Amino acid sequence: MTEVNRRAFLAGSAGLAAAAGILASTSAEAGDVSFMNNVPDPLLTGAELPRFKFPLESSPGGRETDGSSAKQASVNELPISKGMTGVTMRLAPGAMREMHWHATAGEWAYVVSGRVRTTVFYPQGRAETNDFDPGDIWYFPRGHGHMLECLGDAPCHFLLIFDNGYQSEFATFSITDWIGHTPRALLAKNFNLPAATFDGFPTREVYFARGEQPPAVPAAPREGVRLPPESHRFRLTSQAPHGVFRGGRFWLVDSHRFPISKTVTGAVFEIDRGAMRELHWHPNADEWQYVLSGWASVTMFGSGGRFRTETLAQGDVAYIPQGYGHSIETVGDTPMRILIGFNTGDYQEIGLSQWMAANPVDVLATNFNRPAATFSRFPTREQVISERE
Ligand code: MN
Ligand code: MN
Repeated sequence: MTEVNRRAFLAGSAGLAAAAGILASTSAEAGDVSFMNNVPDPLLTGAELPRFKFPLESSPGGRETDGSSAKQASVNELPISKGMTGVTMRLAPGAMREMHWHATAGEWAYVVSGRVRTTVFYPQGRAETNDFDPGDIWYFPRGHGHMLECLGDAPCHFLLIFDNGYQSEFATFSITDWIGHTPRALLAKNFNLPAATFDGFPTREVYFARGEQPPAVPAAPREGVRLPPESHRFRLTSQAPHGVFRGGRFWLVDSHRFPISKTVTGAVFEIDRGAMRELHWHPNADEWQYVLSGWASVTMFGSGGRFRTETLAQGDVAYIPQGYGHSIETVGDTPMRILIGFNTGDYQEIGLSQWMAANPVDVLATNFNRPAATFSRFPTREQVISERE
């Protein structure tokens, strides 16, 4: 009997409640709830590693209306990606992704091109409207209602990352879906308005709404301005890079820089021609990748001699499960830019070269059965992005 069970047994039901509280706080702190049932994932325990790439931009399907479109990579399209869903979305001028929420996922986004305006509703009657330029980030906690609209007369393109691979962008809770399927009498009673008020309202989910281009300066909300305690916007790549190396640079934002982003970390890596993001893993998160430009060769190591390489073109997606070793190289003669998302607000990584450098040299000599001098030329600190030979 464990200590917690023994105490619960001795203390009766009050002890059980207390024990449940202890267990809940232990698993929340560990951040590894997914592993606590000890059931191996059949997808990851076969003789070979599964495919971990999906050609998101060139895939069929998705949704398209009057020049606005959305495509997604969830577990249905990319079965390995159980921890995150990615969506590529484009809005035409005057188009809006209608007011909606996600019941089971937080939403993180990176603006690729064009300009976007969002209004997100925070509980307790607070709301924030923000405008976004390319390289800017938003984060909406799970269940918070929001809308997205294209600003100006050029289309916009952004990538959404959800902290749940079973989330579907095509099964969201949309305002027209709800109001369109609620009995008129119930609506009339709820809003204290005549039932005829709802004549002409959409009777099906609109998803992409279309109207006038939004005003240059957003109008005040009907309830007045009541801002939430934390902003939903972060300007990422318009800042100086957070890490600069001889082979490239990166920008990275987690909840330490962007406090509201409790469940997602995002990064943009620029890797120069011939350089690489060195061998490493993440102890506390899965990794979702999208190639913004150039080509990437991504390797994954999965124990038991299993190793797989995928080559990604612009617009392709890849996924590395928590704890799996990996690296990212450029391909051919072009530099590469890659967007990376992690399903944690507390970013952690372990670099292979740094791990080796953190051990005494006799340990390395014994482990590899090589003379100690062999290791004198190895790096003594993490490279992050290694330059070409
Ligand atoms: Mn959304
Ligand atoms: Mn990584």
